[in-house]
Amino acid sequence: MSTKKIAVIGGGTMGSGIALTAATHGIDAVIIDISEEQLGRAKSYHEKQCARAVSKERMTQEESAEAIARLSYVTSMAEGSDAGWAVEAATENVDIKKKIFIQMNETFGNDVVLATNTSSISITDLASAIPEAQHRVIGMHFFNPVPVMKLVEVIKGNNTSEETTAATIALSESMGKIPVPANDFAGFVSNRVLMPMINEAFHAWSDGVAEPEDIDSIMKLGCAFPMGPLRLADYIGLDVCRDIMMVMYNGLDKNPKYLPNEKLVALVEAGSLGDKSGQGVYNYEKG
Ligand code: NAD
Repeated sequence: MSTKKIAVIGGGTMGSGIALTAATHGIDAVIIDISEEQLGRAKSYHEKQCARAVSKERMTQEESAEAIARLSYVTSMAEGSDAGWAVEAATENVDIKKKIFIQMNETFGNDVVLATNTSSISITDLASAIPEAQHRVIGMHFFNPVPVMKLVEVIKGNNTSEETTAATIALSESMGKIPVPANDFAGFVSNRVLMPMINEAFHAWSDGVAEPEDIDSIMKLGCAFPMGPLRLADYIGLDVCRDIMMVMYNGLDKNPKYLPNEKLVALVEAGSLGDKSGQGVYNYEKG
């Protein structure tokens, strides 16, 4: 088990943030994504973030160049097979993630930790796709934006080994994060609490309780939230919010309180995914 180089599978919002955080903490990171376009976006995000850190004097020019040099971008997992650690940050879908875990198990060395950044899916269920390697599977749940947010929720599956857990805690700390344990229930702690609140904000909007701006202002001014729940939903990705609600619905006895709001689902189906598509609850095309 070596953490000199990590492989990040999925180079979207979270994967690109995880890779950047590794690189700025002296760890090489290879991003593996099936989409060339997404890899291009991840690369330009990294360049912009590093340039910004230099302009704000949070990093020297030399440190920025070193971080950029630690990052690489590939479309096939085989090209990242020399990594000593792997973290999956692909689309929040059980079938997609299980296929990726099978591929990760075939690609990386047999002492490599196979972590997942899933927001809600059972770690034990994902690990069941690779029965012989279940002890190396663990939830390593980063928060958005990864370079800024301090928390890593660490979730052991039924068969995760103590060695894997200790190594995950150590890696989280070496990336400047604070690991906190949660048990393996759909949504863990963070999304079990956060997502029903976001969903309820959509219900309030649908029922005409208030317009989105007012719902967000009320929650910011009244509850001291840094961001209102609907603005946060756009930031997370409306598709990600819908998918997490569905994982909790299916994983928590099909309790209807976890069904995603119809307006949320309709926006996702119309391709309005939030910040990443330029349109969600709010419009971002003009910045
Ligand atoms: P995203 O849609 O921005 O990115 C997902 C990426 O996965 C895409 O670039 C896609 O091309 C890639 N992908 C899909 N299938 C793949 C495959 N087989 N191999 C390689 N890449 C593949 O999603 P995201 O917001 O970055 O979320 C990723 C994961 O992180 C999800 O499990 C999500 O629940 C979790 N998460 C998201 C947030 C958030 O705020 N967005 C926070 C914490 C955790």
